Amino acid sequence: MFSFSTPQPDRELAGAIRIFIESIIPFEKDSRNTSHGPTDDLRRELNKLAKDAGLLAPHVSQRYGGKSLTQMQRAIVFEAAGYSPLGPIALHCAAPDEGNMHLLEMVASEAQKEHFLRPLATAQVRSCFAMTEPSPGAGSDPSLLQTTATGDGETFRVSGRKWLITGGEGAAFMILMARTIIEGRDAGATMFLVDLPNPAVKVTRLIDSMDSSFTEGHAVVDIENLVVTKDDVLGEIGQGLRYAQVRLAPARLSHCMRWLGAAQRAHDIAVEHARIRPAFGVPIGQHEAVGFSLADNDMDLHVARLVTMHGAWTLDQGQRGSMESSRAKVIVSEALFRVADRCVQILGGLGLTADTVVAQIFRELRAFRIYDGPSETHRWALARRIVSPKHSSGGSVQ
Ligand SMILES: Cc1cc2nc3c(=O)[nH]c(=O)nc-3n(C[C@H](O)[C@H](O)[C@H](O)COP(=O)(O)OP(=O)(O)OC[C@H]3O[C@@H](n4cnc5c(N)ncnc54)[C@H](O)[C@@H]3O)c2cc1C
Repeated sequence: MFSFSTPQPDRELAGAIRIFIESIIPFEKDSRNTSHGPTDDLRRELNKLAKDAGLLAPHVSQRYGGKSLTQMQRAIVFEAAGYSPLGPIALHCAAPDEGNMHLLEMVASEAQKEHFLRPLATAQVRSCFAMTEPSPGAGSDPSLLQTTATGDGETFRVSGRKWLITGGEGAAFMILMARTIIEGRDAGATMFLVDLPNPAVKVTRLIDSMDSSFTEGHAVVDIENLVVTKDDVLGEIGQGLRYAQVRLAPARLSHCMRWLGAAQRAHDIAVEHARIRPAFGVPIGQHEAVGFSLADNDMDLHVARLVTMHGAWTLDQGQRGSMESSRAKVIVSEALFRVADRCVQILGGLGLTADTVVAQIFRELRAFRIYDGPSETHRWALARRIVSPKHSSGGSVQ
């Protein structure tokens, strides 16, 4: 039986988050909100406000102080958080920490959970996830991994270069993906948990990028002769690419949820502007072209919300949701970018300025079509499944 109604407690939680987000919107103009994202100082202040409001890291399990939200509940809560670019940072449900918390909950040993997950889940620290490398290393194609962990199965030395590592500067630990070579044999990709700072791990550059909502931006990280042991392995040796999927399928959906909130904000600002900005004798919203743009926004937002909810529901059924999260990632990232683009157009010159948050949302949404897999690779993955003889044409609604 289908139901589109939201349970009362979830509505109440989302309502509390909306009120909280309204209260932190003034921080969007704070000087600690830099081109490399909010500083750690600003993050800590916002986390404290969220904690005082009882809203910090609501997604994590109760064992770590959260509310053990299902994916469907996350869809509602993360959208509410995304209404401000600072919302996910404040609530501590932003990338990469949110995806890292999920991965650690799923894969880490009890000792690793106490050491890494507990301080992360309670926002005492930040983390980073280091997989991508500059060309010719791993990007869309993770099999190109160049960073290598060489050893005897007990101890490894890791060297390589990672880039676009969100929050690499100032992270208290890193989930590091490396190709493992054990006694000369390729043992596949492995994830290692690395405490930071470590003299063998250096942030050599903070990258200037189009986006500015991730704490401390994106870093180039050079790793030289880093010593790790088998106790530092997250999960099992050689299973890194499988764990990447454990992390990425829900992480992609979480991005959809948060960006949905941001695009809704841009739309709300555009609607307000269309109601009051006069041109040629009427408010611009009464010109058909502007009205149609707002109607197209409404439809894109609605479809994006439904496909995200469906992906969340699929994960809640205990399925891997690879197809659903790929589908949602493409539909939502492209739909929301169209929404933000139309909002800029409706605002005219104002849309290009920092006087509203729309310009920032427009810039940031562009990146969403690339990270966690560019649209092309998701279409490619979907296409491979669709033409597979095992695939049933009824889609995945069961
Ligand atoms: C803002 C931001 C934050 C990020 N944060 C992190 C992070 O914290 N940790 C991390 O490890 N990485 C991070 N990344 C990296 C991100 O995951 C990669 O950019 C992404 O996986 C794509 O890899 P690439 O940039 O190397 O693109 P490439 O692999 O070089 O691909 C370039 C282009 O080639 C095309 N292409 C690739 N494959 C195919 C195909 N099969 N069919 C058709 N066309 C194709 C696509 O158009 C693609 O955009 C971040 C990136 C951004 C932009």
